[in-house]
Amino acid sequence: MRQIAIVGSGPAGYYTAEAAQKLWEDDVRVDIFDCLPVPYGLIRTGVAPDHQSIKGVSRRYEATSLSQNVRFIGNVMIGRDISIAELQDLYDAVVLATGAPNDKLPGLPGEEFPNVFGSAAFVGWYNGHPTFANLDPDLSGNTAVVIGNGNVALDVARILAKTREEFAGSDIVTHALESLDASKLEHIVILGRRGPHQIAMTPKELGELAHLERACPRVDPADLPEEGEDALLEPGQRKSVTHLRSFAAIPEAMRVDKPIDLDFDFFASPKAILGDGKVEAVEVERTKLENNRAVGTGETYTIPASLVVICIGYQTSPIEGVPFEENAGRFANDEGRILPGLYCVGWARRGPSGTIGTNRPDGFSVVEKIAEDIGSGAGKAGGDGFEKLAAQRGLNFVEFHDWQKIDEAEVQRAREGAPREKFVAVEEMIAAAGKD
Ligand code: NAP
Repeated sequence: MRQIAIVGSGPAGYYTAEAAQKLWEDDVRVDIFDCLPVPYGLIRTGVAPDHQSIKGVSRRYEATSLSQNVRFIGNVMIGRDISIAELQDLYDAVVLATGAPNDKLPGLPGEEFPNVFGSAAFVGWYNGHPTFANLDPDLSGNTAVVIGNGNVALDVARILAKTREEFAGSDIVTHALESLDASKLEHIVILGRRGPHQIAMTPKELGELAHLERACPRVDPADLPEEGEDALLEPGQRKSVTHLRSFAAIPEAMRVDKPIDLDFDFFASPKAILGDGKVEAVEVERTKLENNRAVGTGETYTIPASLVVICIGYQTSPIEGVPFEENAGRFANDEGRILPGLYCVGWARRGPSGTIGTNRPDGFSVVEKIAEDIGSGAGKAGGDGFEKLAAQRGLNFVEFHDWQKIDEAEVQRAREGAPREKFVAVEEMIAAAGKD
């Protein structure tokens, strides 16, 4: 019997469990740990609340959890409640599927001002992540600057632009819905340090901006390269650029009914956040492309701003004793193997890139590495050993059936039309599971 511990219950963790089951069928036991009492990681707290169809993938992870040899163990923080070394003593293989929960920040002067947030915090706020539920951004000002040209910047800009009605059917948490409903924002500026051909936004998501009730996207036609150059792009990117071209062609007369401008500001690199104790503006340097890189031109200007959300990527949380690549913001690994017995998958392995589905082959490839290293297992104590340790330490861990109670309670207390109202405090989750 092989004993495997997976740390992190997001897509990368669940696909690894699925791969282990597929390879070893009944000859493996998998425990999936999470620091929260609720599973699914980024599916619950990262994927935008108005993208419910994407969240549907959690049904697949549920099926894995309900199988006999996989167990969800929530409310256990590795590094605080139990160390990596202890897990390694108990399990043949420990797989870190901890994602990349920390903001990468550019280190701009003024980044520390109130109402300047990284996207992990801001997305966590509207998605009800317990760490960020109390962020309480001030949306009473006129202009938000969203830094970055990836899908997260797009998510943040869209969420800031939507009306209450447009959140119907979403699981946005009520505190964020109320705050967004009272928002006074009239301008949302999306800053890209490079140009339209270099965006990291996918076409489907970009296309959604054309259908917002109260916001209209704006692209300066002068920023667009010659149309013929689009032929050089790969098809997905070409489609995205086609959306940008259609935004550039929207006549002014069609904007009058839309009180929010959603401006793409390309070739614009943030230099500083300006203000007197609070954010008042963003200083930006105009850039040009050289060998596909953004190079400053020396020309600067300021954009008045009352809110800044920095969406330029994420990094993994280091864990004591586990080799870490600071620059890349992920664990040091060779195709998922950190060292025999210790592995990483998903964003903890690759850094924060790719779609949810990208994690599936990742999970399968790491299980191949595990198979090379652990043979048929070394007779380790596995889950039984964990339970003994948990009892000695008084750990109040939850299992999948407890999550099902939390889930049911969230569904029951949902606003009309919403799939659920998430609990945003760990204590509330524990209480809903009846584990006080
Ligand atoms: P991302 O796709 O890597 O985009 C990061 C953006 O930040 C890029 O435009 C990058 O510009 C810019 N940037 C980086 N450093 C910067 C700096 N110092 N100053 C200004 N701009 C800077 O990251 P992400 O948006 O956080 O997304 C992470 C992953 O999740 C991606 O794979 C994304 O596709 C995925 N995701 C998918 C969805 C979806 O499918 N609906 C939703 C959300 C996220 P450069 O290109 O110039 O470096």
